[in-house]
Amino acid sequence: MEKLIKGLHHVTSMAGNAKQNNQFFTKTLGLRRVKKTVNFDQPDVYHLYYGDEVGSPGSVMTYFPFGGMPRGRRGTGEVRMTEFAVPIGALDFWKERLANAGVTGLKEGSFLGEQRLEFDGPDNDGFALVESEPNGRTPWTGEDIGSAEGILGFHGAHFQLRDVAQTGELLSFMGYEKQESEGAVTRYRIDDGNEARTIDLEASPNARHANQGSGSVHHIAFAVDDRAAQLEVRKALLDTGYQVTPVIARDYFWAIYFRTPGGVLFEIATNEPGFDHDEDTAHLGEALKLPGRYEDYRAEIEARLPSIG
Ligand code: ZN
Repeated sequence: MEKLIKGLHHVTSMAGNAKQNNQFFTKTLGLRRVKKTVNFDQPDVYHLYYGDEVGSPGSVMTYFPFGGMPRGRRGTGEVRMTEFAVPIGALDFWKERLANAGVTGLKEGSFLGEQRLEFDGPDNDGFALVESEPNGRTPWTGEDIGSAEGILGFHGAHFQLRDVAQTGELLSFMGYEKQESEGAVTRYRIDDGNEARTIDLEASPNARHANQGSGSVHHIAFAVDDRAAQLEVRKALLDTGYQVTPVIARDYFWAIYFRTPGGVLFEIATNEPGFDHDEDTAHLGEALKLPGRYEDYRAEIEARLPSIG
């Protein structure tokens, strides 16, 4: 499947409070809410998408806020940290901004020559901002965040695994190149795609397994251009022995899912049709969009969803 995978598409996590989640991503981090819709299987739970102006593939953090969901427990077999790119020199701004907002877990450092600021999300989600060369993306500005500081989509993701060998092989099969290591972490990178290009694999052979809950990444999605490329990827995975779902229409992309040897759930998502195919770009994410089969129940669903602003 050489050259079919184009980096990350989106990362989907779980939260315990929809309003708090919306507040954190739109106000504190200053991302644009590019879609307000509901979980396909549970329409009384939102599916909220935050990204750049149009929700470019490789910029989109999505959440299922299950009201009152118990906190997850960090451990192996999961995406430990989702990493956003910010302009070089922006970390001082973010350090002060996040500290003022009461964000916990702030930790500055460098990894493989890049300056980074790690922090916890409202549900103890693991995040990092990584200073990156200009990547052609335009940040969504506002909330006192300018273009010199604004988030430029994903930099990549950091997995914590008991054993990294098989996941490393899978990433290589998907077109990632193995890069340097630092400590127990090895970087994989894909260059022929969007800017969300790194996956860091941390080997933690003695750590306990994660328990999913609020603050946990549910799955991580990789981008392909279109449905033809997705079918090629699906066939290559099936031929290698992976159990892959059929293609599922998700309104803004088509998806296939498979469980990886290290425990992380992968999705392959198409860049088509995108988040602006059913709303005006100027008003993206404002109205509640429902999957077609729920449209007849709109009044009931709206009444059950919490107000998030
Ligand atoms: Zn997904």
